[in-house]
Amino acid sequence: MSEYTGDVTLNGGIETPVRMSGLEDMYVQPDSIDGDLDLRNVEYVFTGVPITPAADVADPVTDITGTLEDGYTEPDGVHGDLAVGTAEDVFIAHGAVDGALSARGPEQVFDAGTSDAPSRDPATYDVTVSGWQQQREVTDPNTGVVLSGCQSTVNVTGATGSVSCYLIGTNNELIVRGDAAVEVHIVGRDNRVDLGPYIDVDTAVETGFDNTIDVQPFPADDLIETTEDEAYSAVTFGRAKVTYQSVAEDEDWCRGCGEAADAIIERQQKEAFFILGTPIITYEEGGGSYECEHCAHSAPDTSLTPEERREIF
Ligand SMILES: [Zn+2]
Repeated sequence: MSEYTGDVTLNGGIETPVRMSGLEDMYVQPDSIDGDLDLRNVEYVFTGVPITPAADVADPVTDITGTLEDGYTEPDGVHGDLAVGTAEDVFIAHGAVDGALSARGPEQVFDAGTSDAPSRDPATYDVTVSGWQQQREVTDPNTGVVLSGCQSTVNVTGATGSVSCYLIGTNNELIVRGDAAVEVHIVGRDNRVDLGPYIDVDTAVETGFDNTIDVQPFPADDLIETTEDEAYSAVTFGRAKVTYQSVAEDEDWCRGCGEAADAIIERQQKEAFFILGTPIITYEEGGGSYECEHCAHSAPDTSLTPEERREIF
């Protein structure tokens, strides 16, 4: 028996079966246990691996006790079986356990089951951040980001194409900026995902509670090709017909296409007599042609409407 203090990380160099007892929280990363995982006396279980009653873990060869804080299993970290004697919250990623997973008498289980699996295996994502209060800057990930642990922040910039985001644990924050389609899976509680205005949410799955995804609204200014001032200043003297676009501030839905929208513009025209860019006499003016981020000719198809945003979870 070994006495340990603080956080314990299992990274492959231990004899199995292993037993860990007296943990606070435990984070089981993708592809980390190639045997069974038996949770014997834990409070909350948040899992992407379906719970089956068949885990059969023999008496431990390695027994980890002491004054423990959090436990982590790294990818390829446990060659054999692991039993967790006591722990508070246990967070288990999709694909974390090759064998059976059992949980005896937990207070509550949040189980993603098999239907809510990510489209790509989190073990294959190119960025992994694990631990407590980690900070990481990431530019244009190829496949995705795994954020595992507690109170960590990952700031992704320049995201393009299709990006998967996988959060396991509590109180983490993931910020994504760029122009990309994003898949979000959260296994845990009190995590926050903040997505920029040009990010499209493909899929959002929550296994747990009190997680949020905020999507920044599409900026209406992006849809404007010519402002009123620009249209006027192009005319120095004489009668002219100008066209411009303005933001329709008070509209919640687009009269052009009928969809609820973040960004709505109105196309306007004015025929007037101008002197040095100022209309002196107006002969005719009007608007009434509306466009939004969904139907504007110049805009990419992007962003959720406020209604869709509320319905993410
Ligand atoms: Zn529209």
